[in-house]
Formats: sequence, C-alpha cells, structure tokens
Amino acid sequence: MDFERHLSHAARAMHASAIRKAGDVGLAVRDVISLAPGYPDPSLFAWDEIRDIARSILSGADPTVLQYGATRGYKPLIDALPELLNHRGITATPDEIIITTGSQQALDLCARVFIDAGDTALVELPAYTGAMTSFWNAQGHLVGVQQDAAGIDIADLDRVVLRERGAGRRVAFVYVVPNFQNPSGLLMTLGRRAELLAWASARDVLIIEDDPYGALYFDDVAKEGETRPLKADDREGRVVYLSSFSKTVAPGFRVAWITAAPALVARLEIAKQSADLCTSSIDQRFVYEIWRQGVLESRLSGLRAAYQRKRTVLEEALRRELGRHVTWPEPKGGFFLWASFGGGIDTDALLTRAIAHGVVFVPGSAFYVEPHHLNRARLSFSAPPPAQIEAAAVRLAAAVREEPEVRGRSGQEPPAGLAAPRTALESRPPE
Ligand code: PMP
Repeated sequence: MDFERHLSHAARAMHASAIRKAGDVGLAVRDVISLAPGYPDPSLFAWDEIRDIARSILSGADPTVLQYGATRGYKPLIDALPELLNHRGITATPDEIIITTGSQQALDLCARVFIDAGDTALVELPAYTGAMTSFWNAQGHLVGVQQDAAGIDIADLDRVVLRERGAGRRVAFVYVVPNFQNPSGLLMTLGRRAELLAWASARDVLIIEDDPYGALYFDDVAKEGETRPLKADDREGRVVYLSSFSKTVAPGFRVAWITAAPALVARLEIAKQSADLCTSSIDQRFVYEIWRQGVLESRLSGLRAAYQRKRTVLEEALRRELGRHVTWPEPKGGFFLWASFGGGIDTDALLTRAIAHGVVFVPGSAFYVEPHHLNRARLSFSAPPPAQIEAAAVRLAAAVREEPEVRGRSGQEPPAGLAAPRTALESRPPE
C-alpha cells in the first residue's frame, strides 16, 4: 500500500526531532555514553517521597484521581502556582494559568494558536529543536535571530522583523529561552531582557518565554536575581510564559504550565481540548503533592549543587582531554555545554567517529533553522554519573584526534584556522 498518498501535506512536511534521533543512536549502540538528550539525573528524583505519595494517591479515597479532569488543569495545582510564580517575581492569578502535558505541548499549543501557515516565527540562533519542530509542523516560516553573549541581538531582531513585515509576512512571535538556553546554556542579561521587552512593545510583537531551567542556576557563577523572567516585568500581557516540572521533579510526570493573559489562556484551552482533553489527572496529583509537602522546595538547592558539580566535571575533563581543541561559554545553570571545536571540524562527521568510540552528542546543526554543517555540539552533562562524564570526554577526545584537521597537525600548535573562537557564539555559522 502507498501510505504516502494518504498523508496530508502537513504530515509529509513534518520534521522529526534531531535530538530524539541522536538519542535513538545512543540506544542502538552497546556501551555508549550519551551526552545527547537533556534528561535529568534519575538518581536525583525524590524516589522515597514519591513512593509514599503514590500510596496515598492510590488509596482509592479520591475517585477523581483516575478520572478525566478539567482541560485547564487540576484546580488545587492551578491555585498553588501563583505562589511558586511569585518566587520568580511573577504576579499571576489562576485565570492566567493552564496546565499542559509537558512544556512540549505548551509549545505545540502556542504554534496552533498563534501561527497561520506561512507566518513568521522568530527563534534564537541556535534554538531548542523541540520548539522549532512544533513551529514548523504548524507550517510556520522560521527565521533565526543572532545571539551574542548577552542574549538575543536586538538590532538583528529589529532588522529581521522589518524585513519580514516588508515582505508581507505576519510575525507571529519571538521565541526565547532566557535562562540557560537549550542548547547554548546562555543566561540572557537583565539589561538585554529589559531591552527585549521594550522592543517587543514598540514593534507590537508577542514573546514566548520558555523557562524550564530557571530554578537550576549555579551559585558559583550566577545569582537567583539574574534569572528573573521577562514575564515578571510584563505590564501588557505581551509575554506568554512557559515553565515545567520536568527538570525539577521528573519528566515522567508530564506536567508543565503556561502563564498568559486570560484571553490567550482561553484560546489555548480550546486548542488543548482537541489535543488531549486534559493532562494526566494522576500526574497532576503527584506534582501537586510534591509541591504541597514541600518536597520540591527542599530539594532545589541539592539539585543545583549536583548539576553544578557535573558541569565542573565535564569542563575539567574537556580541558584535560581536549585542551585548545574545544571552547565553550561557561554554563551558569541548566543542563548543557555548547562546545565549539576547531574551525575545520564538522560535528556531523565527528558524531560518526564519536559513536564508534562509544559516545554520542547532538551536533550543532540540529539547532539552526537552515541546516548547515558546523563545528558546534551540545553536550548534556545532566544525566550521566560523573565517572561516565569523564569517560565520555576521553572517548570524545579520541574521536577528535582522528579528525583529519587534528591528525595532520599533531605535535604542532593549532594554527589560527583551528584555534576555536573565545566564546562559542562569537563566530557566526555560515548563512
Ligand atoms: N523547552 C525547552 C527549552 C526544553 O529544553 C525542553 C526539554 N528538553 C522542553 C521545553 C520540554 O520539556 P517538557 O515537555 O518535558 O516540559
């Protein structure tokens, strides 16, 4: 049977997640260490507390636990979120909140609610591929905007918006991850956040702010105040704020939420009705209890310290094993290190060598709107134990040493062309 003939145009054009594909490689090869997916460390999940909560939730006392729930979400959880948001500087009321099945669904709902086919969706370069696939699958026209070390480049943003509007395209929104961006790990400065908000207001552009990592700052290099969301200073309802319990509680509970103006939440709720009727009732009960019993709050500083340690393990191992062949902007929080290899190294080709040595990562090309080969890679330090992170760096170094660029010059100082840029974002990928 010719299955293709039965597909919609949209389905034929759909993009698969590049990260998922790299993850599949990791699963298919024996004894491979994966620095590919942004998974939390399972040893950091609150196993004991969750086991106790499971017993009480499944006691049968509350029959609604296994029942359909409201599309908007489990009411006690919605009512609890303003307090959690308040810690982040955001003042919100329950009518500004909708629970989603992971932030991934939130991104997909935003795509459905804000993008018409052919509309422009602006993303950072590089950007989270899961967001890009949602926007592409809604037939958005994705356009990348440059970043520098402080965050999205406002001058480039302005140029791009004027160009897109000049070409007759509607700009649906700009999508940003200001806290420990996936994949670059960058923390947008407070100054740049203020500029972005002011710019969006002047140009009347909606902002989608995705913040799954804000609570996971590393206090050797960042302060909590530096993670203040754009939404905290949004006086107009211009920011649609997404956050998730995936990185702080566990992603197996598919519980996240959107905070936005009530008029937008109402539309997102209608879109969600046709997507899943409601987010898993039982998952929401778990997350609510984890929050209510103070389990989440009491564990956050331990999570921050654990991920900070792993970041340091990876940084030290990369310095030791790869020396001048790799540089990166220091991750100040989150799960990712954005590695930049010597100019001649193509990380798509390097990945093949790396798999042979038993390590996988996501090549930088996955995070750009226009696919092109480049010398960047996202290395996730979140999931593997420290000893495996060190072993991964040894394997990666072995793969890098096989690169013609490096092999041909062994024993010599890397020439100017091979010397990596000082920060991974200084050198632009080819357009
Ligand atoms: N946004 C970003 C920036 C992410 O890194 C992720 C997970 N990798 C998500 C959204 C989706 O997270 P979840 O669906 O588990 O909430």
